[in-house]
Amino acid sequence: MQNTGRRTFLKLAALNLAGAAAAGVVAMPRIARAAGPKVVVVGGGPAGATAAKYLKRFDPSVEVTLIEANPQYHTCFMSNEVIGGERKLESLAIGYDGLKKHGIAVVHDLVTAVDGAARTVTTKGGQTFGFDRCVVAPGIELNHAGLEGYGVEAAEKMPHAWKAGAQTALLRRQLEAMPDGGTFVMVAPANPFRCPPGPYERASLIANYFKHHKPKSKVIILDAKDAFSKQPLFKEAWEKFYGFGTADSMITWIPLKEGGKVLKVDPGTMTVTAEAGTFKGDVVNVIPPQGAGRIAVDAGLTEGAWVPVNKGTFEAKKLPGIYVMGDAADAATMPKSAYGANSQAKVAAAAVVSALKGQEPPKPSYINTCYSVAGTDHCFSIAGVYGYSAADNKIVELPDAGGISPLGASAEDRRRDLMYAYSWFDNIRHDAWG
Ligand SMILES: Cc1cc2nc3c(=O)[nH]c(=O)nc-3n(C[C@H](O)[C@H](O)[C@H](O)COP(=O)(O)OP(=O)(O)OC[C@H]3O[C@@H](n4cnc5c(N)ncnc54)[C@H](O)[C@@H]3O)c2cc1C
Repeated sequence: MQNTGRRTFLKLAALNLAGAAAAGVVAMPRIARAAGPKVVVVGGGPAGATAAKYLKRFDPSVEVTLIEANPQYHTCFMSNEVIGGERKLESLAIGYDGLKKHGIAVVHDLVTAVDGAARTVTTKGGQTFGFDRCVVAPGIELNHAGLEGYGVEAAEKMPHAWKAGAQTALLRRQLEAMPDGGTFVMVAPANPFRCPPGPYERASLIANYFKHHKPKSKVIILDAKDAFSKQPLFKEAWEKFYGFGTADSMITWIPLKEGGKVLKVDPGTMTVTAEAGTFKGDVVNVIPPQGAGRIAVDAGLTEGAWVPVNKGTFEAKKLPGIYVMGDAADAATMPKSAYGANSQAKVAAAAVVSALKGQEPPKPSYINTCYSVAGTDHCFSIAGVYGYSAADNKIVELPDAGGISPLGASAEDRRRDLMYAYSWFDNIRHDAWG
């Protein structure tokens, strides 16, 4: 990160302006009524878990119920390290006991309907929950059908590993079983999608694994775009570690303009057909197009693939009283990241508590930092602090308040960024679920 940017960023972080947390924690008095208002939160990822926790923190009288399909959550963040063999899958798992300790009722069930008019949430298990306000944070749905030949079954042969857990473990097993001299093919999606630098971090860590264990192997990235997040920093790392740009490069990146767009896949022959030709992989990782989680679509919240929201409160444009944040929401210009989801959830929680009291929401502020690991002890990061422009409903990155790691940094700086990344991992898990 450049010095000026880092200084301002740290100042803002120290003032705890991120995610309107300060405004929310300091300014929210209790709501004076015997039984508190009811808020149901759907989805216990970084967005939903943070929203549940901060709703309770901003106003302890609110009765918060979190409904999450799974008893355990596996973070996608740091899952590329599992795929690269640097950490165990179990280190990504986290439960919901921390949230229960804050007085949040946690229900493990799949939500099958959110009725904005009746103000009810219904689950597969047959339960119905009434609400005064509802937070819907289901993350993404993978659009399997968006790519010819791909589907839920195909994903068992050509894993996406874009939702962490069993898919992460499957991709790792396939890489372990692959012979030296094999080819790993990745299909990278067009924008927007969950975690813009994620595919390139993954390609880096797989190349790192090959370099140390299967040095005759290759990584091919077929990309539906011509540019990607932190590209110069990845390129620098690829040149340094994996011979990128030489005839013997371990990584080949084929952008859209060179025919990188994939037209179809065939799990039977393990081939991927792109505009540039047909590629056979020993291991194929297909990251398909994405949209908001199914429940957001079924509830009538989406327009196109994502949920349009008031970006100052995250109240859904199509269903008042329902708040959507995290990956499911159209929260451009913020990227779809866990840290962004965590920050947006604090803004939404403060807005919900204000709405329940008939008050104006506090002025929002948002934050995002994203670390990418590209080799052994080699990490870099980007950070942004954002404000809200109500006139055009835009989230605007504040100048001089963020920054990106510089090119040409020392090995020690890159190693230190990795330590910061691990520290960020612990902190966000504690902030959202702890
Ligand atoms: C490989 C990879 C690496 C990444 N690395 C980083 C990183 O370094 N930093 C970073 O900030 N971000 C990173 N991300 C992005 C980050 O994981 C996502 O942006 C984040 O998980 C979004 O949070 P969310 O809460 O919106 O959605 P999710 O994390 O998907 O959570 C949604 C939750 O809702 C539940 N749910 C869905 N529908 C229902 C329903 N109908 N009923 C009940 N429960 C339901 C799901 O089970 C899930 O637990 C990475 C992503 C990937 C794929």
